[in-house]
Amino acid sequence: MRDEHFVFDKKLLQMQTRYIFVTGGVTSSLGKGIISASLAKLLRARGLSVTIQKFDPYINIDPDTLNPFEHGECYVTEDGAVTDLDLGHYERFLDVRTSQANNITTGRIYQNVISRERRGEYLGKTVQVIPHITDEIKRNVQLLGKTGKYDIVITEIGGTVGDIESLPYLEAVRQLRWELGELSLSIHLTYVPYLAAAHELKTKPTQRSVKALNEQGIQPDILVLRTEHELYPELREKVALFCNVSKESVIQSIDAKTIYQVPLMMQEEKLDEVVLAKLRMKSDKPDMTAWTAFLEKYFNPQKTVRIALVGKYVKLQDAYKSILESFVHAGAENHCKVEAVMVQAEDITPETVAELFSEVGGILVAPGFGERGIEGKIEAIRYARENNIPFLGICLGMQCAVVEFARNVLGLKDAHSTEINPQTSHKVIDFMEGQKNIQDIGGTMRLGAYPCNIISGTLAHKIYGTTQISERHRHRYEFNNEYLSAFEEKGMRASGINPNSDLVEIVELSSHPFFIGVQFHPELRSTVLNPHPLFVKFVEAVSNNP
Ligand code: GLN
Repeated sequence: MRDEHFVFDKKLLQMQTRYIFVTGGVTSSLGKGIISASLAKLLRARGLSVTIQKFDPYINIDPDTLNPFEHGECYVTEDGAVTDLDLGHYERFLDVRTSQANNITTGRIYQNVISRERRGEYLGKTVQVIPHITDEIKRNVQLLGKTGKYDIVITEIGGTVGDIESLPYLEAVRQLRWELGELSLSIHLTYVPYLAAAHELKTKPTQRSVKALNEQGIQPDILVLRTEHELYPELREKVALFCNVSKESVIQSIDAKTIYQVPLMMQEEKLDEVVLAKLRMKSDKPDMTAWTAFLEKYFNPQKTVRIALVGKYVKLQDAYKSILESFVHAGAENHCKVEAVMVQAEDITPETVAELFSEVGGILVAPGFGERGIEGKIEAIRYARENNIPFLGICLGMQCAVVEFARNVLGLKDAHSTEINPQTSHKVIDFMEGQKNIQDIGGTMRLGAYPCNIISGTLAHKIYGTTQISERHRHRYEFNNEYLSAFEEKGMRASGINPNSDLVEIVELSSHPFFIGVQFHPELRSTVLNPHPLFVKFVEAVSNNP
């Protein structure tokens, strides 16, 4: 009888969702997102269903209004959530679609609690950080888990242990660990600095960081130590002893040549095995064949191609994260290394353009908002068009291609987007009424995935190999259909149309070897195992460009 009960219990245990909490200490930028994504990748490669969510301690409701210099790129999910760029890593590693539920900020937590208070749901009570904010955090942590779709939910807590902002999250994690017991696990990521003068790796910051976590009532089960040098066994033993973890639970995360090596490095360190043993879960060995094949191609390129990335935030690589990663995926697919040459849009003038692009085989004009750099982008596009250089324009990049064509081919000298010049007499890119209203600030922003019909026989059709696609958007302005026939007459064709609204989603030039502008963001859908066809074909065109 007792045995039967035990068996039943074990089965139940096997079915319940497990929660893994990932915190970081010592310093920010240690790569918590990559470690979380790598662990999730290994667990998924074992056939488990896994998702990752990120909790950000800032007060903005989402990063939509943040300048890329503050935050890097905003990553947009299928359901139109504007989120942290770590969600991009999650999707690129896992091939799993994320959603609003995967990224929660302190602002959103407070907003929920305050709206509830206004609705009278806490009547008679003083609303406080503990328990009301922590309860709301706990509810959000478990939202995806409660859908029953996941064996494991990994929750990454943004910020660094010791920050004032992180305190309510750590308290929520402490309570959840207490309530969930063996169904939960805490991983703490720290940094082990190397003192060159002493030729020594130092563990004190790690010890201090674990102490700080202990003070919040959390004992980490696993420590991931970020390091630039191999950790020697004695060091691992010392950390284990001083931080109350087993030696197997001290995991090394050494600098990698590419982030895509990290899952294999974590596998070598047995991070996935330790995690599963602690969560009392059994599974098959991870199948990383396709991943390894990608790395094989990545490390053995047959040639290098150079592509200019024209934008405003070129000094900050994170601002164009998804585009740069899409190049990596598409490069491997084409057996070549893509070198992205960052070009500051404001530097491009009729005088400098030829020199600036003399050594690149292709030009990508990036998405963006506002006026700065527009004329430079238009000049870059003219150069690409007139010199048959493969061109890909994304969102604002597509809009600039339309303006350039209107001015220099249709002869509409003052053609512009009304975002930048509302007074222009040729509004070739304009604000369209009746668009979906998703968010307060976003207002009429088109956000998230929309369908697009592709016209047969076009370059877009050749690229996608299908006539029905769905891509993600984040913009307000659109191609103005009043000009469509004038454009088509002169050779700029609308090859992709939104079936519900007739909005133009793709433009291309038939007379050019590879010239395409897309109103949506293909870079958000490229993953390691499914590189995006637009990037694959663009890189191929560049690679074939003599
Ligand atoms: N600023 C343009 C718009 O709002 C383009 C936006 C973008 O490139 N994401 O339509």
